[in-house]
Amino acid sequence: MRRPSLTIAVYPGSFDPATNGHVDIARRAAAIFEHLFVAVYDAPPKNVLFSTEERVTLLQKALKDTPNITVASFGGLLVDYTKAKGAKVIVRGLRAISDFEMEFQMALLNRKMEPTIDVVCLMTSEQYTFLSSSILKEIVMLGGNVNGLVPGHVAEAMKRKFSSRPDVGAIPRYLTS
Ligand code: ADP
Repeated sequence: MRRPSLTIAVYPGSFDPATNGHVDIARRAAAIFEHLFVAVYDAPPKNVLFSTEERVTLLQKALKDTPNITVASFGGLLVDYTKAKGAKVIVRGLRAISDFEMEFQMALLNRKMEPTIDVVCLMTSEQYTFLSSSILKEIVMLGGNVNGLVPGHVAEAMKRKFSSRPDVGAIPRYLTS
C-alpha cells in the first residue's frame, strides 16, 4: 500500500506576538515534516496588538535560521488554506490539559469539513508551559520584563508598541531607556 504523504504541515495561529513557546513548536514540527508553513491568521476573533504584517515579520525573524519553514498570513478557512498548500497535517501546540478541550473541538470540526486532513499536537517544552501571548502582553503593559520568554526583537517590538499606544498603557521609563 502506498503511504500517504505527510511531508507538508501547516502551523496556524494568531501569534500576537510570537513567543518562545510558538518558536519551540515550530522548530519541533520543522524537524518532523519536510516543510512547515507557519500561518498567521489575518482576522482572529480577538483584538490584536500587532497588525498581520507585523506578526508575520516578527515570526519570520524568529524562525529565519530554519530553512524549511515559510511564514505567511492567511485568511478564510484553515482547511482550505491547508489544502491549497498541499498539506495533510495541521500542527498545534499543547501546553496543558486545559488546551486540549478546545484543540479537540477544533480538530473534529476541521475533520468534518475536510476528512483528509489530520491534526498533530506537539507538547511544548516544560519551560514554556505557562507562556501565552496575552499574559506576556499584560506583563509588558504593566512594565514587567519578558526577556527569555519571547525572542529579543519581539520584546523590543512589544515595548515600542505599548509606549506608542497610550490607549493600551504606558511603559515605565526604566524599561524603554
Ligand atoms: P490561537 O491559535 O488560539 O490564536 P496562538 O496564536 O497563541 O493561539 O497559538 C497558536 C498555537 O500555538 C496554538 O496551538 C497554541 O496552543 C500554541 N501555543 C501557544 N502558546 C504556546 C506555548 N507556550 N507552548 C506551546 N504551544 C503554544
